[in-house]
Amino acid sequence: MNRLQLHFGPVQSYVAEARSTADLWSGSFMLSHLAKVAYDAIIKDVNPISPILYGEGKSAGMESKFVGSTPNLFELEVKGNSEKVARKAVESWASEWRWIADEALKKMKQSIGGSLAQDTMDIWNRQVSNHWEMYWTIGDYDTLQSRKRLRSMMGATEGGRKCTQCGHREALRDSSEGYRDLRAFWMKVGQAVDRVSDDGSDRLCAICFIKRVFPSVIEKRISSKLPSFPSTDSFASIVWRARVWDSNDEDLKRSYANLIAVLKEEKIGPLSGIWEPSIEGSSIPRELEYEGNLFFLDRLSVEGTEIPDAAGLKRVSDAVSDLYWHSARLHLGRPQPYYAVLAMDGDSMGVLLRENEALKTDISKTLLSFAQSVPHIVEKRWGRVVYAGGDDVLALAPTSTVLEISLDIRERFKELFNGLKGLSMVPTISAGILVAHCMLPLQRVISQAHHLLEDVAKGHVVKDSQGNVLRAKDALAIELWNRGERNLGLTRFWDDGDIQIPRLVTELSSYWGKNVEVPLTSGFVYSASDLLSRLSSHLGPKQWERILVSEYFATRSHVVSELKKTKEGRQKVEDVMRKILQLCREDARDPPTYNPEHLLLLRVFKEDVSQ
Ligand SMILES: [Zn+2]
Repeated sequence: MNRLQLHFGPVQSYVAEARSTADLWSGSFMLSHLAKVAYDAIIKDVNPISPILYGEGKSAGMESKFVGSTPNLFELEVKGNSEKVARKAVESWASEWRWIADEALKKMKQSIGGSLAQDTMDIWNRQVSNHWEMYWTIGDYDTLQSRKRLRSMMGATEGGRKCTQCGHREALRDSSEGYRDLRAFWMKVGQAVDRVSDDGSDRLCAICFIKRVFPSVIEKRISSKLPSFPSTDSFASIVWRARVWDSNDEDLKRSYANLIAVLKEEKIGPLSGIWEPSIEGSSIPRELEYEGNLFFLDRLSVEGTEIPDAAGLKRVSDAVSDLYWHSARLHLGRPQPYYAVLAMDGDSMGVLLRENEALKTDISKTLLSFAQSVPHIVEKRWGRVVYAGGDDVLALAPTSTVLEISLDIRERFKELFNGLKGLSMVPTISAGILVAHCMLPLQRVISQAHHLLEDVAKGHVVKDSQGNVLRAKDALAIELWNRGERNLGLTRFWDDGDIQIPRLVTELSSYWGKNVEVPLTSGFVYSASDLLSRLSSHLGPKQWERILVSEYFATRSHVVSELKKTKEGRQKVEDVMRKILQLCREDARDPPTYNPEHLLLLRVFKEDVSQ
């Protein structure tokens, strides 16, 4: 038996080249699809070690759940000629890619009414044939250095006017290099091709064009209609919408129904199946499937939505405004323009695999169960999975549910590996969570989420005075990206004693606002964080607690004075202040130091933040 490793790329950079969540998902799904085609082509000739893509009885792959799940690195045992198997896999990938590219090219040709200029075809062929990098090694993991490179993406440097999506390959054009002609060319394409803007603002390279039209191409292959992927605005507004929808208030219900009726009049329909697409028997009401950008009053526009004209815009705006009014009356707030990206993967998986050679197949099976359970966990809380394969997860979710989602994924990972006996160590998992404003460029947001996971969370470490590592990884790194304001961050191990940090954040964020037992006002939060950043770090936890309690009681508010009057009330406040200190504590310091950013972060995790 020979050991064969196959690797396809680029992955992360290719997936991140997206300006919308739909493109993000499309790129990831396409990569996974290509890898699966390659895997299926050789599965009869090999014993797969990693990944194992099929459970008992060849259960359907995750593609049926609209979730990419095939990793881009295979490790296989080959009975016969390894090189032949490798070539077969690579050729299957390449031929599926050619088929997808040809289908996309047909769409482009149709859109401009016939044949393409030689210049267009030259750019197309150059980009399509140079894109993927594939290599293999025969032997151990460590010999990856001696890999045999088959195709290199380090092809020609691209000149000309750049693609508006990836920003580094040349945009497809006809024989003229002028900007006006380029725009005219893309207006023509956009008028005929779905999801390409018809005002000439999308000017794409071949690779980004293929990614854009891939969903309609792949529907032919898997003979199933793909559900839309929610926009950042949809993730940002859905929890609020669901609360409004579930309200018992008749006027609020009527107001929501009125907005839906207005949208229908404007010929705007729901995006069927965008929530819980992989959950059988899901019963999300259609009223919650509308595009999220229709619920942000200050950003409603004819250009940015499906609203056809100014008169329609007025009608929709009035209906949304009425909805806000009723929602405010019931203290349900209004949607906030933030969503979350969650990136997770197992810690030190390479070490785990090396140390447990004999259990590699069992580890792969465990990872299959793990990946298969992720979509359900994510979708149950209004999230969607971009990718879940091996130990890797990339998902988008509302800010108020992302922490619970990350905890549940971690619990599942732990539970599955605890059930696998005989391992040299039980692996842990880390997470990067980026909460971002909806208008920030998606490509940067995704890259930052990966950075938070790979460098910040996995780099989280506590050492003793001799420099020995006491605790490492098994952490989460959270960051908030506002527009223009200073970014805030928190990096902690998941657990602090028996407290789970995400739970602590969720609990404390629920105190934000007016209608709670121990209200945290922005005035108090800012003055407390100011104290934490200015005062000496030599104070002990007890002293800090007293300082925060007295700062809290200095707040002028009826609720606060009532709390101060009773012993019970004072205890409640002390309890919350202790929790705030626990949240602000940094893991790696002795004596403890406190990071005020942790406190400032709370606000964004509150469900109805505008209270
Ligand atoms: Zn591009």
